[in-house]
Amino acid sequence: MKITVYGGAGVIGGNKVHVGLGDRGAFLDFGESFDLGNKFCSEFVRPRTGRGLRDFLRLGMLPPLDCYRPDLYPADLSMTDMAPVRVDALFLSHAHFDHYGNAGFLRHDIPIVSSSMTYAILRASSEIGRTGMSTELFDHVVREPKEMEPRILVSPRNKDKEVQGRRWVLTGKMVEEDPEWRMGGCCQVTEGNGELNGIEYKAFPVDHSIYGATAFALRRAGGDWLVYSGDLRMHGVNGDDTALFAGRARELRPKALIIEGTRIGRGSPKVEMTERMVHDNCLAAVEEGSGLTIADFSANNFERLDTFIDIARRTGKRMVVTHRDVALLQSIARVDGNVRKDSLWVYRSLSDRDADMVDDLGDRGWQVADPDDIASEPEEHMLCLSFWDMAKLLDLEWRGGTYVYSNSMAYDLRQTDNLQKLMNWIDLMGFDCRGISKTNGALDFEEGFHSSGHLALDDLWRVVETISPEVVVPVHCAFPELFAEMCPVRTIVPEKGKVIDLDRGTSR
Ligand SMILES: [Zn+2]
Ligand SMILES: [Zn+2]
Repeated sequence: MKITVYGGAGVIGGNKVHVGLGDRGAFLDFGESFDLGNKFCSEFVRPRTGRGLRDFLRLGMLPPLDCYRPDLYPADLSMTDMAPVRVDALFLSHAHFDHYGNAGFLRHDIPIVSSSMTYAILRASSEIGRTGMSTELFDHVVREPKEMEPRILVSPRNKDKEVQGRRWVLTGKMVEEDPEWRMGGCCQVTEGNGELNGIEYKAFPVDHSIYGATAFALRRAGGDWLVYSGDLRMHGVNGDDTALFAGRARELRPKALIIEGTRIGRGSPKVEMTERMVHDNCLAAVEEGSGLTIADFSANNFERLDTFIDIARRTGKRMVVTHRDVALLQSIARVDGNVRKDSLWVYRSLSDRDADMVDDLGDRGWQVADPDDIASEPEEHMLCLSFWDMAKLLDLEWRGGTYVYSNSMAYDLRQTDNLQKLMNWIDLMGFDCRGISKTNGALDFEEGFHSSGHLALDDLWRVVETISPEVVVPVHCAFPELFAEMCPVRTIVPEKGKVIDLDRGTSR
């Protein structure tokens, strides 16, 4: 058993963990690294699509391995420059960008194993969001060298263009069978049976800040098990799933556990916030507030969305979401069967494309809220928006209101900068704000309005002790040495791109 952490070693996010299991190999997640992205890139400075793999490789954002799509090699990059690596499957733990964001680079014949919910979220995200080659997880047009300049790759637009799909293996069922949606054009989507390309696997649902999060156990038939946690926590609504995972993983007597250590070195809150406490605090804030309510939470945190649906119901408000939220919700309803249509109104934003899309939803039976409806009865409405949607508020003749920030703290300069701007919008609109404030220019986060997506330290050690592997490899952790000091089980601190060879009993 060999483990090589190409992303997620000593940093939070960007997990790209290769495991060698005898004569087979697999990746556990293939996300985009925030650290390198933040170091070199900004909104208008990104690796160029026309240069395929090359810009990403030169920036160190991708490891130099021979597992990528051949159509992404420009003429001045050779596959012989890449180290050989065996990849029989990609196991995707959940639909957060730092776990799937670079998977579109992988060869299209590498099957992707995920929960049905993760598949559903990613399918909807790919339809509503901007997709570049890094996130082409379903169908993609095969790139071709530009005529007379083969160092540049282009996406052909003619009718002869070649389209490739990927193979998805889902670890659970859908409640709504829709053959076309399941097939996804050229994609092949099947349910898994616990064995793929010679790798035996087990999937365990776990609790995280997005639905569908899954931990995996893998082995080569008859060999030792390796367990990968993905991102997880105990204190959400599905906390029992995490406990169940730990118990079942223990029965496998795994050789290695690769686990997240996100909250190592972050300092613990006085009280660990559960989703229930967040619910009660946000409910109180909405009840105490006046005027229009704005609820700000991450668009793919569906648990939080369900929390606010309940708050809207209890306070007699109409909960208004964007058409992008509806696209995601329609997709996840195929898996969890929870059609939230009756509880929601769709905001008809006054931009050309948005208005058309919302009218289309209205024709399909969704309740629509026009800015004028909201402006005429602001206290009757709870509008779910975040910083990225602030311009939509300019459609309203605002008269103050209550802004409930139920989202995470800022962990880097870019996030801090965006939240500083958010505070300026809140000032401009004259909202009373809960969950975040600004004192002498510095941001202050009010406890109780957000609950972390990651294991509290007590829970982390409880999970490690329950699973009781021979060795632990911490990933998604900014302080792995500190993790190793605190961890009750022998810990190997991974170094980016260095093989941890457990067959030899040592790392090199
Ligand atoms: Zn993550
Ligand atoms: Zn995550």
